[in-house]
Amino acid sequence: MPKKKDYQVVILGSGPAGLTAALYASRANLEPLLVEGGGSGDPTDLPGGQLMLTTDVDNYPGFPEGILGPELMDRMRKQAARFATEFTSGALKHVDLSVRPFNLTLDEGRVTAHTLIVATGAQARWLGLPDELEFRTKHGGVSACATCDGFFYKGKDVLVVGGGDTAMEEATFLTKFADKVTIVHRRDDFRASKIMLEKARKNRKISWLLDTVLERYLGGAGKGVTGAAVRNLKTGAAGEVAAGGIFMAIGHEPNTALFKGKVELDSNGYMLTRSGTTATSVPGVFAAGDVQDHRYRQAVTAAGSGCMAAIDAEKFLGH
Ligand code: NDP
Repeated sequence: MPKKKDYQVVILGSGPAGLTAALYASRANLEPLLVEGGGSGDPTDLPGGQLMLTTDVDNYPGFPEGILGPELMDRMRKQAARFATEFTSGALKHVDLSVRPFNLTLDEGRVTAHTLIVATGAQARWLGLPDELEFRTKHGGVSACATCDGFFYKGKDVLVVGGGDTAMEEATFLTKFADKVTIVHRRDDFRASKIMLEKARKNRKISWLLDTVLERYLGGAGKGVTGAAVRNLKTGAAGEVAAGGIFMAIGHEPNTALFKGKVELDSNGYMLTRSGTTATSVPGVFAAGDVQDHRYRQAVTAAGSGCMAAIDAEKFLGH
């Protein structure tokens, strides 16, 4: 339960952006409340954000030997707590930005906020096939993060679904581990940039299954995924492809549903910020991390924009 009714700064999200915003806001004596999020029922929706699903993080500066994703988040959380950040579990249920201070209904109670930092992140998109959640969790073999899980697919044949830059990047990355990587794409034309597409095309371990969609995962309990039932959209022909792993690379969804019609979003749902700042279309509402960034999506850029948001909020409050 939040200890107070009214806060100078409320931060939504406990990934690198939210925790860095909390660190800066608390060091500025703003006594922020951080709403940790998670708990939607999706096993990948965890407080701490996407890094909680990662193993080694080798590209966060300051850790020359690398650090585990959950450990990095734990350290960030402790650092924010050291300067009197208040944490509350659960998520935002409803927000009214038409009043000042803003009215927030949280899982754990109602509070008002003079500024709001939205750092709710983004989540990988999934196909929504039958038993997808089981394959992602219990059975295993279906993932949306080659960087996190690629290592486990040594010597296997894997599929990568998608035709954008992420698909090209993840397929190329997976060739370090897998024997064969097949890119399954629903068209024969690609959204991916020429340079990344060419790199994938030149890789002898990558093959292509175009105009094709997955209809069902094969395998199950004890076996994990063993392949997929597929259909060619041009010919209608159905078939099966064997695979020891299937990686989704069909884009990400920013967590902005509660802000639709309240804060300006782009056509993909990402929160729009004024160039060079974290200011959104609503004065006093700031956005940081993946919720406003579909381009870089890195822990360090998220942390950087969290710092910016706290400084922007502090200036807005006239401190
Ligand atoms: P994109 O939105 O660019 O591509 C998503 C791909 O998934 C598309 O090919 C799309 O097909 C396909 N897709 C979407 N939904 C489905 C579905 N339900 N079934 C089957 N296929 C589906 O997302 P990315 O994650 O690839 O990239 C996002 C942004 O990040 C881009 O701006 C990209 O350039 C950038 N990026 C840059 C990188 C870099 O520069 N190193 C690396 C990775 C990403 P269709 O084309 O038919 O719509």
